[in-house]
Amino acid sequence: MHDIVDLRSDTLTLPTPEMREAMARAEVGDDVWEEDPTVKRLEAMAAERLGKEAGLFVASGTMGNLVSVVAQTRPGQEVVLDLDSHIFNYEVAGSAVIGNVQMRPVRTARGFLAPEQIREALRPPNIHVPETGLVCVENTHNRHGGTCCTPEEIAAVAAVAHGAGVPVHLDGARIFNAAVALGRPARDFARHADSVTFCVSKGLAAPVGSVVCGAAAFVARARRIRKMVGGGMRQVGVVAAAGIVAIERMVDRLAEDHANARALAAGIARLPGLSVDLASVQTNIVIFAVDRPSGAAELVAGCASRKVKIHAIGPASIRCVTHKDVDADDIARTLDALREITRGW
Ligand SMILES: *Cc1c(COP(=O)(O)O)cnc(C)c1O
Repeated sequence: MHDIVDLRSDTLTLPTPEMREAMARAEVGDDVWEEDPTVKRLEAMAAERLGKEAGLFVASGTMGNLVSVVAQTRPGQEVVLDLDSHIFNYEVAGSAVIGNVQMRPVRTARGFLAPEQIREALRPPNIHVPETGLVCVENTHNRHGGTCCTPEEIAAVAAVAHGAGVPVHLDGARIFNAAVALGRPARDFARHADSVTFCVSKGLAAPVGSVVCGAAAFVARARRIRKMVGGGMRQVGVVAAAGIVAIERMVDRLAEDHANARALAAGIARLPGLSVDLASVQTNIVIFAVDRPSGAAELVAGCASRKVKIHAIGPASIRCVTHKDVDADDIARTLDALREITRGW
């Protein structure tokens, strides 16, 4: 039980005491000179978990996606991705500005492009058209409510892309949530992608950072681009140390967040004026609709006055994210608040 229940995002998780200790003790060096042993340990550990040759610690998921896109494309190429993807919607058009690539967003039902959609989106060899440079997949899918695709679905998409000589990037900001939810090792999801990025700063509760993984040659290129965008950090082992604790200690407990999300969604489904697609609640995100004009703002304000913070993602749509600083009592309190607010709706 916490004084304030904060369901706005899993980025709000605070570092654990063990992380603080690891940070204080971390052995460090200048990471631009590749002399920080703690960063190297985190990168090697991440690469091992994802079955890749090498890893690169970056400041954020956004930076991880940016360096991955730029490292694998040339200016003027096109990137095929889902219309609701994080890269297309929430990364300030960085790939367009820094990488000079064009985005080719495709509308999907669940956030995951089907192999036929990739086939249709790939550009034919023709002097008039841009070249397809990269295909991006997002798992779990943020805007679709933390939904997961399977390793086999990624393999099917990658087969089409690779068949045309196009690499695949996996935006796996919450890939460990998918791994825990589907009971599959994270490397199964990464296997068919040429690059993958995941956040230690979300459900895994580290204060800062993401890791990009892939083949050694890709990571060497990504390292140059990270430097170009100002992401070369010095004694950053102080921060990476928390990422190591995140990977070693915080993955299995994601199952609790998923159980809390399911309990929250099941409660919401019983309330008047609110609707939620229970099948979409596979991990730690619950997106639900408020069937009432300006209902989302009303709910956000009503919850805030009851010390429960939730986030409106549209005039009639709310997103709640469970994480390690939200427990089962907090979920019960959130449902009490929602019940009071929607009474008589
Ligand atoms: C959070 C998120 C990112 C970006 O992470 P930041 O660390 O906030 O930059 C990228 N992709 C997805 C799917 C995310 O949910």
